[in-house]
Amino acid sequence: MTDLAQADVSLLEAGAILSIDLAAIGRNWQSLQAVCGEAECGAVVKADAYGLGLEPVVHALIKAGCKTFFVAHVFEGRRVRALSAEAVIYILNGLVPGTAPAYAEVNLRPILGSIAEIQEWVQFCALFGNRGSPNGSPMTAGLQFDTGLNRLGLKPADLPAAKELTERLNLSLLLSHFAWSGRGSEARNEGQSVTFDEMRALWPDVPASLANSSGIFLDKMPLHQIVRPGYALYGGNPTPGRRNPMQAVLRLEARILQVQNVEPGETIGYDGQYTARARQRLATINIGYADGIPYSAKGTDAKQGADTVIDGKRCPFLGRISMDLSVIDVSQVPDIARGSVVELLGPTISIDELAARSETIGYEIMTKLGQRFYRRYTRL
Ligand SMILES: *Cc1c(COP(=O)(O)O)cnc(C)c1O
Repeated sequence: MTDLAQADVSLLEAGAILSIDLAAIGRNWQSLQAVCGEAECGAVVKADAYGLGLEPVVHALIKAGCKTFFVAHVFEGRRVRALSAEAVIYILNGLVPGTAPAYAEVNLRPILGSIAEIQEWVQFCALFGNRGSPNGSPMTAGLQFDTGLNRLGLKPADLPAAKELTERLNLSLLLSHFAWSGRGSEARNEGQSVTFDEMRALWPDVPASLANSSGIFLDKMPLHQIVRPGYALYGGNPTPGRRNPMQAVLRLEARILQVQNVEPGETIGYDGQYTARARQRLATINIGYADGIPYSAKGTDAKQGADTVIDGKRCPFLGRISMDLSVIDVSQVPDIARGSVVELLGPTISIDELAARSETIGYEIMTKLGQRFYRRYTRL
């Protein structure tokens, strides 16, 4: 396995160590492709592949067999293109005004989500007649339909105009996005699926895509021609409340800086939000909210903190999380020493657990993992 550690933070000096298993990402893609049968499994690698590093992740996905990538921005698409001349690359956020030449230049496909976007793309494509872009690649785009998210996409009233405008375009994908898939609201998902089918009926020959990670695991839901998982590739649970079918990809460990005791009645951290009820043993660890530990992982007199793990024993956060430091309860492992490592994410604490205990979602934790770690790409 490659050990492409971040150059500017050494293992010795780092407050925390983030291990990312690229082979597990590849296996997760392959198992999703197996679940999808006839449909093609793409990969969503926006936001630096959910914080895990776009270049190494795309490299691993290509090796696993992935051919179609989805990102949010043009500049993210350029980074994928630099790794692969053949990859099909869609820009989910559509066409930003004035940026059409960039799509042509490196062969990116915008997912057009409004009449204004379609018009701008049609005008740009007309400059080249039907000859494709300046570098000869065909000018290809997708269309997005809004089926209930009210975020991006064409509305039913836009369809006649969209049909007419797209008559001379090369369309390769019709897309919509679930609003409720993670929560498994069956009636609402079915409603969106039916609306999607009604809206795309005007373009009967163009491939379609509806499912994200959770959408792949919905019962009785058509997967159409291509699916768009992100979170599940990176080990997040696409079936909330049920056993996670994906392999873990991440481990985050922080180092202990100091161990001490507090007496009953003493408070811990800023604003004294946690008060010791008994004699307790504490460890201060070298990681804080500036490193992506959610502030709301804190343990106060009113709320139990999220857990960390040492030697299989759960050690909850005590008091507020600081910018660069946190305090955990090590009363159960009193002999733990300065320099030892604590698991914050890994085999025991999943990203979904830390999220649930911190009033956020695993997606936010993943994409906010900090820049100060010693990062290594390694087998877990
Ligand atoms: C981010 C995104 C996805 C991936 O969603 P996951 O829940 O991470 O699988 C798919 N489609 C669209 C339109 C997205 O914005």
